[in-house]
Amino acid sequence: MDLDIAGRWALVCGASKGLGRGCAQALVAEGVNLVVNARTEVPLMQAASELRAYGAEWARARDQKHPEVIAVDCDITTPEGRDAVWSAPGGPGKDFDIVLTNAGGPPTGDWRGFSAQDWQRAVNANMLTPIELIRAVVDGMAARGYGRVLNITSSAVKAPIDVLALSNGARSGLTGFIAGLARSGIAARGVTVNNLLPGKFDTDRLNATLVAAAEKTGKTLEEIRRSQTAQIPARRFGTPGEFGAFCAFLCSPLAGYINGQNLLLDGGLYPGTF
Ligand code: NAD
Repeated sequence: MDLDIAGRWALVCGASKGLGRGCAQALVAEGVNLVVNARTEVPLMQAASELRAYGAEWARARDQKHPEVIAVDCDITTPEGRDAVWSAPGGPGKDFDIVLTNAGGPPTGDWRGFSAQDWQRAVNANMLTPIELIRAVVDGMAARGYGRVLNITSSAVKAPIDVLALSNGARSGLTGFIAGLARSGIAARGVTVNNLLPGKFDTDRLNATLVAAAEKTGKTLEEIRRSQTAQIPARRFGTPGEFGAFCAFLCSPLAGYINGQNLLLDGGLYPGTF
């Protein structure tokens, strides 16, 4: 299936590994130009060079110019980090066709232990940063008649997770904002806005929570993995490749009628009918 997004410009945040990396890979493999971002330089540069190889493969197969991959190592949750993305040499400025907002999730713990500063940090990273990114790009997308905004949130938005109070709260704020934005008139101008809600995907972040659970319970990591996957109807964790493939589809014109949705990718773990 040709997704018809080659030559578009995408900003993919948190793209050195995990779900962001999976999305970046799926997009560049469709010929999309990328600005990728993450905090730490070395893994980001490594990821960027691997992404360039996927882009080169796409270009070779079609005898086309290879897509650009521009890497910006910065903290996307800061105004300086976002400015670095907008002013990346060779990039499109703020004229992106596709924006995937993503950053690290907030820490786990008992909600009683979180200070106002912890809450401010979580709200900044998981609500205000996506809103600031969207604010910078969305009117330009509408003026040009095409745009895809995707936010990686969490299944915790649909079914709160007790140790993830910061995530449950901050991401629900973003979810409410997006619900309004998607219905504000931009969809009639070719811009869709959706949230991707990962359940359990095999990434460093998930692994860190499994290690913490193993330490807390005295079980081995393998036992924790087995007991967690046993609860998932698919009997396994998801892969960043599966997540990225869905992201790329949503970025395409084929998905132009999907708007304002919270799309759960969890192997069937959420038990509700809807
Ligand atoms: P990950 O730790 O594997 O990767 C996170 C990526 O984001 C890395 O590239 C990291 O460098 C980058 N990053 C983190 N903070 C950043 C910042 N401030 N500025 C720029 N880049 C930053 O994590 P993941 O599993 O891919 O998770 C991505 C998001 O999805 C997180 O918010 C996480 O909470 C959420 N999520 C993940 C799962 C899962 O199962 N993996 C489930 C629910 C929600």
